[in-house]
Amino acid sequence: MYDAHPLAHGFPIKSAFHGGFGWSSVNLFRTEDRVVIVDTGSPTHGGMVRANLAELGLTTADVTDVLLTHLHWDHVGNIGMFPEATITVHQVEYDWATNHPEPDAVFLSKPYLDYVVATEQPKNFLTGMDAGGELFPGISWFPTPGHTPGHIAFRVATTEGGVLLSGDAVKNRVELYTGVPDLSMDLEASQRSIDTVRAILTDDSSISLLPGHDNRLRMVDGEVLDEGPTLREIFTVNFDGKAGPVEVELNANGTLTPVA
Ligand SMILES: [Zn+2]
Repeated sequence: MYDAHPLAHGFPIKSAFHGGFGWSSVNLFRTEDRVVIVDTGSPTHGGMVRANLAELGLTTADVTDVLLTHLHWDHVGNIGMFPEATITVHQVEYDWATNHPEPDAVFLSKPYLDYVVATEQPKNFLTGMDAGGELFPGISWFPTPGHTPGHIAFRVATTEGGVLLSGDAVKNRVELYTGVPDLSMDLEASQRSIDTVRAILTDDSSISLLPGHDNRLRMVDGEVLDEGPTLREIFTVNFDGKAGPVEVELNANGTLTPVA
């Protein structure tokens, strides 16, 4: 059983003119002998990740394993911060990203890909896109392609129950709620991946979802429950254009409701 600690909360909103915020989630799972991080987050969040590790009495050198859902820039941004970690990534994802004809394509970033290739840190390449398997006791993976060709998800047994980390296969509450994929390289594969994740969460509402770009979520009777933090706790915006910030709720379908 792992203790679970968010090091960076994912955030679902994208701007009309500047694309996605790229605020992806970084989650830590700890047992006596292993400190595991799933995804390493946006490059600008390195300081926050370091500070939140320190809160747990850890440094970046204490991280034994970095598990990557995929190799987009906002999920590998701080990959060089964990020099003692074994890097786990799917072979299909690694081959696709590191041999990409445009290594600085919109969602890739050459410096981070170069790091993953060049580092002498041990790498654990997963293979097969038909099934998954156990990585360590209490942590398993399964294929969720579509968003990228070698995208994978993880399941972790924690002291607070089962947790599913979907990366960008299910990025946020909107994809979980609607079941409709956004930002996909292969819509049919993405649809199957979303359906798989939704089926797992529907079958067992005690399992919570840590998506790539949202809070911890749960599905109960077809509804998406947000386990926080609230939008107000994440940041404040002058939604009314006047005096101070207005508190808003972020709804399952992605809309905002001002709280009176
Ligand atoms: Zn992505």
